[in-house]
Amino acid sequence: MYVNIYSYVNKYTLYISVMMSSNVKVECTDDKGRILVATKSLSAGQVIFQEEAYVFGSWHKFRCLVCDEAHDPDTCTRVEESFANLRISGDDCTRNSVGSGSAQKKSKYTYSEIEDALSEIEGIDELDRARTLLKCLRIYSTSEDEKDRLLSVFEELTTANLDKCMSCAAQIRENDMLAGIIPPGVADTLLGKLISGLNTNCHTLEDIGGSGLFLSACICEHSCVPNCNFSTNRTTLTLTAVRPIKEGESLTLDYGENYYRPTEERLIDLQDSYGFVCTCPACNGEVPDKSRAFECPKSSEHLAQKHTVFPPQWKCIGCGHQLAKEVQERYEQIEARHKEDPPESLEEVKNILEEKILKKEHYLLFDCLDAIAHQIASECVSAQDCIEQELELLWIAIIECIEATLPEFHFNKIIYYEQFAQIYVKLGDLDKAKEFFTKAYEMAERVVGKSELCPTTKDLESLAANPPKTVAELMRKYQNTSKEIEEQLKFEESLQS
Ligand SMILES: [Zn+2]
Ligand SMILES: [Zn+2]
Ligand SMILES: [Zn+2]
Ligand SMILES: [Zn+2]
Repeated sequence: MYVNIYSYVNKYTLYISVMMSSNVKVECTDDKGRILVATKSLSAGQVIFQEEAYVFGSWHKFRCLVCDEAHDPDTCTRVEESFANLRISGDDCTRNSVGSGSAQKKSKYTYSEIEDALSEIEGIDELDRARTLLKCLRIYSTSEDEKDRLLSVFEELTTANLDKCMSCAAQIRENDMLAGIIPPGVADTLLGKLISGLNTNCHTLEDIGGSGLFLSACICEHSCVPNCNFSTNRTTLTLTAVRPIKEGESLTLDYGENYYRPTEERLIDLQDSYGFVCTCPACNGEVPDKSRAFECPKSSEHLAQKHTVFPPQWKCIGCGHQLAKEVQERYEQIEARHKEDPPESLEEVKNILEEKILKKEHYLLFDCLDAIAHQIASECVSAQDCIEQELELLWIAIIECIEATLPEFHFNKIIYYEQFAQIYVKLGDLDKAKEFFTKAYEMAERVVGKSELCPTTKDLESLAANPPKTVAELMRKYQNTSKEIEEQLKFEESLQS
């Protein structure tokens, strides 16, 4: 059965801009449910569509849930108006006195207390999830039309861990502080479905910090080697093709943040979070597990990677050499030992590298290097700090790992290139800063989309064309608070005098 995207968007208001919705359609399959397929061939870097979040929530306490500005929600009149029906505040609580158990008629809790209590319920766990749930309950109580739309939206969504979410719903109802947020007519089955639907389908909002439900993007199938990337600008999501896509091909996204995890861990995480066993090319053995890199016995320059096609085989990507069975077993034993007690310092990483078995690209070593590289980068302010800490060398190693392990076109490469460019600004090496801002920009053009449509790309384009020359300028470009800039300026002045 085929459902054209137009009927879909008509039913649930227009979420995709009309101009771009002709690139995709919804297809209902027997085995995988709804999927999104291309209606024409799409080129790499092409923006497929942009859509607005149906509901979203920030994970920053200082951002008001309703206005999304930095002010206290408890003093916001819009919060009071929006949630009056949910008995969080305001006087209009009479309609909720039915079916809300022993809870008092008027809430004695502030909005902040309610959202905190809700985010502490196991299965909700996060402030942004608590807020999106509160918004859904508000939508339910707004009008009959809004309620019908909410119900049909969630009827279509996939739901993982439904049992756990049902018990989560029961916990909310039994909680004196929270029972009042459940509108009359909402049974635990529906509440559980809302929680599960949000947990399974929300996307991260990168710049605001939070998550949102995007009704079209959430239909995309998962793949650990996806053909699409999503990026967000405030509450707008952009779906972009990262490689050429044929007409009729299913659009795929990486649901997890598992871009540097070994296959076994990734499979478990996807199963736990989304309730399915991934059979994508990276999980079924077509593509080797790049996160577990051993040194090829023939050359210390070469990486041997595990090909999981039966029988599993470690093979060098440099010369094709296959590790002998006994070598393979010995290496895996050593790997298991390091997994028991992962390295935590540069010294420990060096010791492991001297064994000439695990390469620095191995996730156990990369995890440690990556954490230290970020830690030191955030602590170093002056060029002198960076030089003393050998930050450049460390980041060269990190970039090598990223380039060896991630797919050729990957969103996280933008982040790493941009961070390295910032370090070069601190080091005062403006040519290198320009080089890495340019790499970030070119990757963004390919993974996020052209700057006309995508603010992220546009920002990087201007950084590449005109890299900041001082740390203060760098901070200004990244819109840090004026207080931080003042302190930085003072610091730089003190160096000059
Ligand atoms: Zn507000
Ligand atoms: Zn996979
Ligand atoms: Zn080799
Ligand atoms: Zn060889």
